[in-house]
Amino acid sequence: MFAVGLSGGIGSGKTTVADLLVEYGAVLIDADQVARDIVEPGTPVLGALVERFGAAILDPEGRLDRASLAAVTFGDAEALKSLNALTHPAIGLAMVERRAALVEDDVVVVFAVPLLREEHKALLHFDVVVVVDCPTDLALQRLVEVRGMDPVDAERRIAAQISREERTKLADRVLDNGGDLQALIDLTASLWTWIGEQRSARDRDLRG
Ligand code: ATP
Repeated sequence: MFAVGLSGGIGSGKTTVADLLVEYGAVLIDADQVARDIVEPGTPVLGALVERFGAAILDPEGRLDRASLAAVTFGDAEALKSLNALTHPAIGLAMVERRAALVEDDVVVVFAVPLLREEHKALLHFDVVVVVDCPTDLALQRLVEVRGMDPVDAERRIAAQISREERTKLADRVLDNGGDLQALIDLTASLWTWIGEQRSARDRDLRG
């Protein structure tokens, strides 16, 4: 396995890059997807969330209703802290397990982690970290115009994240998504070549 950590702010373009890398042959482990999987009905995490926040966070089918959960935690630092404490360890564990299942395989694995921090690099043993970066006003515009998100909500979400500077500090390579979609497609093509080179260099080092 060659492990690539992929991050970027909301609306930066990381899903677009991740999908293109999958087309090139990478295997994707998406933290957002894992975060959904660990709160499926019947999971201990969903049980703990209901205990903490009440059954109003469930929809009529007993599934987690993300909008209700967001409503009870938004702007409440204590509630947000409990939510993170109840979910983050399970997400981390599930990511580690999915990594372990692929570790012996001859593959490039892309770990898409929106809220990437220094400790994730160590926990998941990334060989390289790639950050998709884009000016905040452009991310906002894309979220509103392309994805139809409410402008106030989009702005609030962007403001709640770590800064672009903090995020790009963790990167071995930054993809500048300030151009059009074709420019991002081209950048991802060179990224794939670069990943191949990094992988060969690592394998050479391992062979000594
Ligand atoms: P989130 O954190 O919300 O999942 P993201 O970082 O994964 O966002 P994407 O979903 O890849 O971002 O991109 C956000 C939106 O902007 C998408 O609708 C995507 O098609 C569009 N987009 C991304 N890059 C560009 C670009 N360079 N030009 C135009 N539209 C773009």
